[in-house]
Amino acid sequence: MRLNSIGKPFAVSALALAVSSGAYAVTDEDILNDHTTADDVVSYGMGLQGQRYSALDTLNADNVKSLQPVWAFSFGSEKMRGQESQPLIKDGVMYITASYSRAYAIDAKTGEEIWQYDARLPDGIMPCCDVINRGGALYGDLFFFATLDAKLVALNKDTGKVVWIKPVADYKEGYAITAAPMIVKGKLITGVSGGEFGIVGKVEAYDPETGDKLWTRPTVEGHMGYVYEDGKAIENGISGGEAGKTWPGDMWKTGGAATWLGGTYDADTDTLFFGTGNPAPWNSHLRPGDNLFSSSRVALDPDDGSIKWHFQTTPNDGWDYDGVNELISFDYEENGGVVKAAATADRNGFFYVLDRTDGSFIRGFPFVDEVSWAEGLDENGRPIYTDGGRPGNPADAEGEKGEPVLARPAFLGGKNWMPMAYSQDTGLFYVPSNEWAMDIWNEPVSYKKGAAYLGAGFTIKPANEDFIGVLRAIDPKTGEEVWRHENRAPLWGGVMTTAGNLVFTGTPEGYLKAFDAQTGEELYRFNTGSGVVGTPITWEMDGEQYVSVASGWGGAVPLWGGEVAKVVKEFNQGGMLWTFKLPKEDS
Ligand code: CA
Ligand code: CA
Repeated sequence: MRLNSIGKPFAVSALALAVSSGAYAVTDEDILNDHTTADDVVSYGMGLQGQRYSALDTLNADNVKSLQPVWAFSFGSEKMRGQESQPLIKDGVMYITASYSRAYAIDAKTGEEIWQYDARLPDGIMPCCDVINRGGALYGDLFFFATLDAKLVALNKDTGKVVWIKPVADYKEGYAITAAPMIVKGKLITGVSGGEFGIVGKVEAYDPETGDKLWTRPTVEGHMGYVYEDGKAIENGISGGEAGKTWPGDMWKTGGAATWLGGTYDADTDTLFFGTGNPAPWNSHLRPGDNLFSSSRVALDPDDGSIKWHFQTTPNDGWDYDGVNELISFDYEENGGVVKAAATADRNGFFYVLDRTDGSFIRGFPFVDEVSWAEGLDENGRPIYTDGGRPGNPADAEGEKGEPVLARPAFLGGKNWMPMAYSQDTGLFYVPSNEWAMDIWNEPVSYKKGAAYLGAGFTIKPANEDFIGVLRAIDPKTGEEVWRHENRAPLWGGVMTTAGNLVFTGTPEGYLKAFDAQTGEELYRFNTGSGVVGTPITWEMDGEQYVSVASGWGGAVPLWGGEVAKVVKEFNQGGMLWTFKLPKEDS
């Protein structure tokens, strides 16, 4: 039991206190304090704020060259695609998900399997961007994750046995879930994927013990949110804005704004932060208006899902800039005071620093080499659109196809799903980014349930001959790029930073790499045998510091990448979990 809780007091559920049969139960305090405790990782983000920063420094810039693998674990079967997951670790047991909605518990000392769970998926699932899964959550004696047919699954963390399974949405309408759910104040919180199918995005809270729905918050303006009591929806006046205000006609009914990347939580302001994806369809001429709350960050009250504030990065998004990227809370000092900030690196190519107490814009700047669609941001952070930067209206063209434009970044984004990290030592964000452009044009389209709802065509191309990926160290106070590391293939894996002056990430070429956090010098590389698109973690066990990362090439790039796919077509798929530490004599 830890006594140094820094969270606000609230009732700890009976579940969290329940004595589990096998190992120790995971408590609200474990989760709230995750970023301060080195012996476990019990949240996606290595802390609910999502900083992905570890205070461990046993492994550091001086000795990382001696880092050695201690075991590797195969996810098994022929299902070797896109391993984008982040492991969790508790009491010497690692929990991880894999492609095709699979989950595992593994002995962290030996790499031996404790249990495996394979979701039985129906034939008709519609994942837009590969059959990936990004991770799970722990609470009480349960492990939770979500599936490609849009269900939440609760498993006994010690046995892998199913405790409950609940549908969050109908996969036949195009819903799926790939993000890690999160536990906040005793509630299990999830978003949904499906923005390419005209779904309605939402954030929902469930009772972890029973799977009962507690509240729902749709993320398209005009839809009501509800709190549930005894299984009944209570109309408690939690409006989601006025229907038809920022959407023409009935377009809000199929407006997209999928919450497909999951969220972060800031205990300091008691706020959930979720990003929302593209408005549907992609053809923006069919939906004049800002199309709230698409391509935005929304701040939610975790008790009832009501919206505290929103910040829209790409109003009337016409490029699938899909601003779902994680919003990371951090504090910094300025003019003798502490600024409660939050930062996000958007797919649209701009980096934003917001006041996390009210969502007001502090500053923003491009973090990629070139942004074509906007000339900059105004004093409120709203983009100043470039004349002619938007793909043309098919209604103005002869034939079916509107005037194409060359847009940069490409829709796969200046940064896509892969999480960045924030170092409390350097004050820098470490951003996995890509330099690419696209030809994009609009076409007529009408909504059909369960069918792709784009009204656009595109071809992605590299912006440079010799590199696409760029790992960047960015100063959120100035916008300065402090250092950069270029990579031939697009970067598609998450980032972690440590007090050992290290930054870790993976490459599609197969490497787990470590860099000097201050200078960007590459200090370590190990080839895992397939592309690394997972997110590394670090923790301490028996006085030694460990690093783990999933390996297995896949995700959206080989499926949607156009000319970029040629750069990566020789990469072999895989499905392994690697764990590293220093040899005893070096630590
Ligand atoms: Ca921890
Ligand atoms: Ca999208």
